[in-house]
Amino acid sequence: MKAEDILHKHNLVRTSCRQSIIDTIVNSGFAISEEEIKQRIDSTYDRTTFYRSFKTLIENGIIHKIVVDNQLVKYALSENKPISKNHVHFYCNQCGIVECLPGAEIKLPQLPNGYQQVEAELIIKGLCIKCNNQD
Ligand SMILES: [Zn+2]
Ligand SMILES: [Zn+2]
Repeated sequence: MKAEDILHKHNLVRTSCRQSIIDTIVNSGFAISEEEIKQRIDSTYDRTTFYRSFKTLIENGIIHKIVVDNQLVKYALSENKPISKNHVHFYCNQCGIVECLPGAEIKLPQLPNGYQQVEAELIIKGLCIKCNNQD
């Protein structure tokens, strides 16, 4: 799905900054950090424009956050594959890629009475297919 179609689907105005952010995430192939996105898109956007666009995309569920640890937070598109809210993320210890595993679902445990789940996140750390196949 193209950036303009994604924005249209969410009834959002198509701004070039929003489009650039989506395109950058799509083109990277893997989840990407806010800093990496900033570096890759045109520097014609000022900090405020970038921040607002980024926030809008998150609030509308177009991109989602993946917290690997305190140092490493990445973002992935929620739109280009059918993806459930409780999908698993994968982090490669060797090359550092972070990706969504749409086919893998977190099996949620039954919470004690009176508890309410807001979100659940599972990150599997290991070796990606490329690193795993190296001799
Ligand atoms: Zn790897
Ligand atoms: Zn994901």
